[in-house]
Amino acid sequence: MRRYYFHNVFLSNGWTTGALVSVSAEGFVTQIDVVPEHGSMAVAGAEVIAGIVVPGMANAHSHAFQRGMAGNTEFRLSARDSFWTWRNAMYALANRIEPDDLQILATQLFVEMLKGGYTSVAEFHYLHRQTNGAPYAGANVLWDAIGQAASTAGIGLTFLPTLYQTSDFGGRRLNPEQARFACDTDEFLRAVEDRIGAARRNADRDAARLQVTGVAFHSLRAVPLENLQRVALRLREIDPGMPLHIHVAEQQLEVKACVRETGRRPIELLLDTGLLDQYWCLVHATHATPKELKGIADAQASVCVSISTEANLGDGFFDTARFLKAGGRLCVGSDSQSTVSPTEELRWLEYQSRLRKKRRAVLATKGEPHVGTRLWRDAAQHGARAIGQPAGAIEVGRRADWLVLDAAHPSMVGAAPDRALDHLLFAGGDAAIRDVMVAGRWVIKDRRHEVDGELQPRFAALMQRLTLAE
Ligand SMILES: [Zn+2]
Repeated sequence: MRRYYFHNVFLSNGWTTGALVSVSAEGFVTQIDVVPEHGSMAVAGAEVIAGIVVPGMANAHSHAFQRGMAGNTEFRLSARDSFWTWRNAMYALANRIEPDDLQILATQLFVEMLKGGYTSVAEFHYLHRQTNGAPYAGANVLWDAIGQAASTAGIGLTFLPTLYQTSDFGGRRLNPEQARFACDTDEFLRAVEDRIGAARRNADRDAARLQVTGVAFHSLRAVPLENLQRVALRLREIDPGMPLHIHVAEQQLEVKACVRETGRRPIELLLDTGLLDQYWCLVHATHATPKELKGIADAQASVCVSISTEANLGDGFFDTARFLKAGGRLCVGSDSQSTVSPTEELRWLEYQSRLRKKRRAVLATKGEPHVGTRLWRDAAQHGARAIGQPAGAIEVGRRADWLVLDAAHPSMVGAAPDRALDHLLFAGGDAAIRDVMVAGRWVIKDRRHEVDGELQPRFAALMQRLTLAE
């Protein structure tokens, strides 16, 4: 059992000055006492934390291998560049990555996530096979590379093996460049069940405690609806609370193709199945109608928005204000890794709404007038729930995942105690994040991770090689 004394902390019931927090050997918060004056007997033996402590953020959507292309697709190939031309570059990268490469990319990425304030991540993983399209014999080394990278970094991981079967609506065969993603429904279910069985057997190991298994369906383009329904129903028998994620309505072309093939829009199709519940997360949902947004909110499913990626790819605007007004649960993710920063994601949720509505403080509420506090608190809680991690708030029973903001950083000095998250989102960004704890362990201390020195040359050499091979 360890104890920490926080001068200024955002607890689940709000900003608190002076709190003594006890953390178990397993990394969970077991007790919180409000102790306004430190120096008393109550803080003896506690580590005193100078700075402002806030809950860590969940990254609800990530494709780790895409870290290998950040910054490398920002030039014009034709006047019609779009998501679809970017996707060709992404496929080319996907078909060059070997398991060791993936582990280096993912380790670097997960360390960057921690430094940026993400303390857990949902990895939406559709690289399943060898570069020639043949399955790996025995254990899936690409899946294992992600788990090992997360253990090395010390980040919470929700691994989402991703079902990927067709190249478009109507059951179209995969294209040759998609061969690595292919999965047979029964084999996929068996592999997921094996993974869950192994996790249950190893539940007492430290690394296993930070790792959760869910499932993703790549999209309605890539998974025939009847297969999605069959797999989702079977998974609910195995684990009623398993996170289930899907990319949906990111592109207008995709919505049109779905209507052409089925007579329904993609989110309508998902709502029609009756499967959506609080353990589903719809990624993007960019081109959702007001009725669809209400349907998602009513089903208590989450939406994961990744504005950095949606802006990078020219996808379109998600109507955040409308979705939140309908009671929708919103979380954020770094998706294509063009940048890896929850502060940037949340800042742009608000800025996008300001630009559209020509008003300020659009996403604040009567109950929480501070935009930074409202967005960070809700995205942390909804994100943790959407990815099945026992975190998202500093309270008894949740995992001890938090960030320490440097109160002396120029972006933070002078911040009133209840404005630290406004400063983080709108004035300081990531530079104020000094220390990061996951499951009761300091993984970032003074902006450094213990593997930085060894990792950086390996990552640099890999990026050099990947860029040369383009
Ligand atoms: Zn994605």
